[in-house]
Amino acid sequence: MNRDVQKRHTRGNNARLFGEKTKLMNRKEAPRWVRCTLCGGKTRTKVYEDTVLIKFPLYCPKCKREIRIDVVKLKMVLSEEPDA
Ligand SMILES: [Zn+2]
Repeated sequence: MNRDVQKRHTRGNNARLFGEKTKLMNRKEAPRWVRCTLCGGKTRTKVYEDTVLIKFPLYCPKCKREIRIDVVKLKMVLSEEPDA
């Protein structure tokens, strides 16, 4: 009898944990499309709030050029290139 009670308790806990997990996964995390620093056009690269890009070679289909960028917390900056 005691075991039965324990079983039920475990199942209840699992269901609750699963429910919380689902809620977390359903929370919307909107991706942002990275824009070209030269023409301002959208590229095919997207970032999330927790995406970190360092010296990422961003390709712009409009300029047909590649620019190296850093993106941290949706903030984009041009990577410094010592040779340029
Ligand atoms: Zn561009």
